[in-house]
Amino acid sequence: MDLGLKGKTALVMAGSRGFGRAVALELAAEGAKVALCARNAEDLATTAEEVRSVGQEAWGEMAGAVLAQPLDVTDDQAVRDFVSLTQSDLGSVDIMLVNAGGPPAGNFEDLDEHDWKVAYELTLESSVRLCKLVLPGMKSRGWGRIVQITSVSVVQPVENLMLSSVLRPAVHALTKTLSDEAAPFGVTVNSIAPGFHNTSAVQRLIAKKVEQTGCAPEDVIAGWTKEIPVGRLGEPEELAALILFLMSKRASYLTGQCLVSDGGWVKKTF
Ligand code: NAD
Repeated sequence: MDLGLKGKTALVMAGSRGFGRAVALELAAEGAKVALCARNAEDLATTAEEVRSVGQEAWGEMAGAVLAQPLDVTDDQAVRDFVSLTQSDLGSVDIMLVNAGGPPAGNFEDLDEHDWKVAYELTLESSVRLCKLVLPGMKSRGWGRIVQITSVSVVQPVENLMLSSVLRPAVHALTKTLSDEAAPFGVTVNSIAPGFHNTSAVQRLIAKKVEQTGCAPEDVIAGWTKEIPVGRLGEPEELAALILFLMSKRASYLTGQCLVSDGGWVKKTF
């Protein structure tokens, strides 16, 4: 299937590891130009090199360019500068993956006002800022794709994830509301809600559980997977494949949706 991504410019937020990295690699394999950012400069440089070689392996001289910029998605000026740099170096942004690290775990009584403020800035405010920066250009050019990574907490609160369970639904509400305004201009806006996937974030979660409970890592994973009909964690590449479709020219009639990718974990008919 031709996804129609060759030569498009894609902005990939939080792209050095996990889902962001997997999406950046897939975009390069499709011949897109990729601008990626993340907090850790060293990790980011390594991933940018991988993205470059995937593009070159697939397209040789015709590979899309790669730009990498270390930054924190909550830093207003750094994000503005990154978007401007992408536009000047790679061209107008056609595609954007809105992504960041997740807000910290905790129940209501564990969290103070500062935790709520920081989580709001990380999860919702950063998304609003990015959409404000990128959407007008997409609308004026008559084509664009925005995909936001959220969590299954959008459809069902997750134990001990108070901040995610409250703020992620707001990100999907932004997706849905924005999709109405963007659709007449050829721009789609969707969100994707992952269940447990095997990324560094989940590896950290497993290590924390091991420390708290003294269980073996396999037992922590088994505790999760017994609730998942597919019987295992997802791989970041599986989520990336879905995201690439949402970013493609093929997904032109799909907007305002939240695609849940959780191996069948959440029980919800509609
Ligand atoms: P990960 O830890 O593997 O990768 C996170 C990436 O985000 C890294 O590149 C990191 O440098 C970057 N990052 C983190 N905070 C940042 C910030 N403030 N500014 C810039 N870059 C930042 O995580 P992941 O599993 O790929 O998770 C991505 C998102 O998906 C998170 O919001 C996470 O909560 C959510 N999610 C993950 C899972 C899962 O099972 N992995 C499930 C549901 C939701």
